[in-house]
Amino acid sequence: AKELGRGNFQFYAEEMNARTLDRLKLEGGLRRALQRDEFELYYQSQVELSSGRIVGMEALLRWNPPGGAVVLPGDFIPIAEETGLIVPIGEWVLRQACAQQVAWREAGLRDVRVAVNLSARQFKQQDLARLVAQVLAETGCRPQSLELEITESVIMERPEQATAMLQTLSDMGVHLSIDDFGTGYSSLTYLKRFPIQTLKIDRSFVADLINDADDAAIVCAVIALAHTMGLSVIAEGVETEAQLDYLRAQHCDQLQGYYFSRPLPAAQVAALLAA
Ligand code: C2E
Ligand code: CA
Ligand code: CA
Ligand code: CA
Repeated sequence: AKELGRGNFQFYAEEMNARTLDRLKLEGGLRRALQRDEFELYYQSQVELSSGRIVGMEALLRWNPPGGAVVLPGDFIPIAEETGLIVPIGEWVLRQACAQQVAWREAGLRDVRVAVNLSARQFKQQDLARLVAQVLAETGCRPQSLELEITESVIMERPEQATAMLQTLSDMGVHLSIDDFGTGYSSLTYLKRFPIQTLKIDRSFVADLINDADDAAIVCAVIALAHTMGLSVIAEGVETEAQLDYLRAQHCDQLQGYYFSRPLPAAQVAALLAA
């Protein structure tokens, strides 16, 4: 690793630091983070392949603890989930993302949809739909400007209850997508009944798309399946032009990934949404 530059080394050290944070310290830190306003949403563009236009922005949570480096969700969401802290944190995310959508629109920027990730715990809250309705009303965000991403595994854990919740949200006019599609076990019977608009192909399949015939076959199958069911498909984790070309040839609808843009703070995203 000698050839790695100083920046790379710092990045690695910061990441290790976050990982080895003592659990209790982490939990205490997370409890205080909301009051101290230490959370921040980054946004990653979702691009329509046919036009090259940005049609959505996925909100991705970051934590800026005092005096520390940015902590990625993989390092704190599991503990937030275990402790239940994810519920108030998730509520903050939803409110912040909806308010941001309205702010972009009111600033005359592209009127894109904002996509928010829902955790397992949040999705199981009985009053989720009421919360979403309340946040939409408070912020002035239109339901069709909000997309909720729920992972395949969370939905398939209790598919009957999930279908009812998805239906309630869908009736409100909110867009729904299944995240990390292909990593769980969706039954086609259920998939047909879910009132969703979009499947997000997990980035693990996109990563090896060009070299791994199995992954390529899965991606093609998911795109075909989605289109047969009248759903749109977004591929995540697109990093190279080769992947982009392949996905275009397969008529994938949207893409998201470093090839187009990394997740960025809201202030930097505004430039992408200009004109
Ligand atoms: P996800 O929903 O699958 O989000 C996509 C992740 O892939 C993000 O990681 C994003 O930064 C990363 N990514 C995007 N494009 C590329 C690419 O081209 N290459 C690679 N290697 N990675 C790419 P991030 O931001 O670290 O988030 C990780 C996970 O944390 C998310 O996975 C999501 O499950 C969860 N998460 C993030 N924000 C929230 C939130 O507000 N609430 C909840 N409940 N979960 C969140
Ligand atoms: Ca997601
Ligand atoms: Ca995903
Ligand atoms: Ca593989």
